Amino acid sequence: MPELIIKNGKFYRNGIEEGPEIGSVEQINCLKETNRKNEEAKKSIGVDTDYECTTTGTAEFRCVCGEKVYYEVEFEGTPDDDDCFVGKAKTCRVCGRRYEFEFDADYKLIAKMTK
Ligand SMILES: [Zn+2]
Repeated sequence: MPELIIKNGKFYRNGIEEGPEIGSVEQINCLKETNRKNEEAKKSIGVDTDYECTTTGTAEFRCVCGEKVYYEVEFEGTPDDDDCFVGKAKTCRVCGRRYEFEFDADYKLIAKMTK
């Protein structure tokens, strides 16, 4: 059976809308999974990047605890975007939360909480 998804608050399967069914385990699970993904997205924090010179890139963002987290990466050559940060991780020195840099859907660098 094709997967059930939620779009604009409605259930769809194969592009066809399905009315809500009271007690439907599949719909409840679908709703839970959608909420979980939304919660996860809220943990992604915008990042400001800067390139001091041609070999060092810096990124900073504010941890959810309020601490400013600063990250510096060395790279070879000249980056034309924030690629050099992607996949790198940084732990907040105050609260110990761990973040990983990645691009969001708009190709904007974000720090995603992993712990
Ligand atoms: Zn923190």
